[in-house]
Amino acid sequence: MNQCKRCGSEGIVKNGMVRGRQRYRCRACAYNFIEGDRRVNDALPAKKALAVLLYSLGKASLNMLGHIFGVSRSLTYRWIVEAAVSLPEPQAPGTIKEMEFDEMWHFIGSKKTNVGSSRPWIVAEGEPWHGCSVVVMLRLSNDYTAKSNI
Ligand SMILES: [Zn+2]
Repeated sequence: MNQCKRCGSEGIVKNGMVRGRQRYRCRACAYNFIEGDRRVNDALPAKKALAVLLYSLGKASLNMLGHIFGVSRSLTYRWIVEAAVSLPEPQAPGTIKEMEFDEMWHFIGSKKTNVGSSRPWIVAEGEPWHGCSVVVMLRLSNDYTAKSNI
């Protein structure tokens, strides 16, 4: 027995004996359980997956996840870290392209006064892992220089 039956935390301590069996207490969620009582949290993998999904989409804080799943904030943090370390290292191709978004500027900028004054963007794209595409767009700062002194 090395993890909590409710939340999966490995931070468990012995907490007395019940009917001749060792009882454990989870430090993360305060759950008491007995080794070998056949209670298993089948929903735990699904909870972890949903927590990672919500967190990675930026839709939920660690506190909110803890509230949703009835566990501590620190435990949701461990779920996220556990998922993160299990992923392969991202490998960006390192190709950075410079692009200009005329139409985008038309829609985003103030109406009509900026037509024709679009500015270049720095766009980096990559596929950190198969099936996941990432595009990062940075607008040049106002005081950028187009010429290099090097
Ligand atoms: Zn627990």
